[in-house]
Amino acid sequence: MHEYGLMEEVVKSLLAKLAEPGVDTEGAETEVVLKVGALAIHSAAATRQAFEVLVKGTPLEKARLNLIVEPMTLACPSCGFKGPLPEGAVDPHEQLPLAHCPRCGTLAPVTGSRGVESIELVLD
Ligand SMILES: [Zn+2]
Repeated sequence: MHEYGLMEEVVKSLLAKLAEPGVDTEGAETEVVLKVGALAIHSAAATRQAFEVLVKGTPLEKARLNLIVEPMTLACPSCGFKGPLPEGAVDPHEQLPLAHCPRCGTLAPVTGSRGVESIELVLD
């Protein structure tokens, strides 16, 4: 599963951060702010699910996940439309993803990030 492998890396790096000296999560509300590119995942729901599975039994078990998905953008060469596309508009597995322009229907290239943009650990 795509999301699972991605989240495995994310959770691993978060746990390493928590293990650093001076980081005290005892009784603290933990929030994970994760920003990923739309082409890095298939769906936000699957990403959340993977997170929940991976943090079970770890100090992150009660952490809230604030997932921000950077939208992919379509740039139409035909009518000049440029804008974000909804989740699931293209298959992230494709090397050069294409989608139909929402304005004129031309098949146009889609750009978006394929990786994790940022991981932030917030302790309240
Ligand atoms: Zn167009």
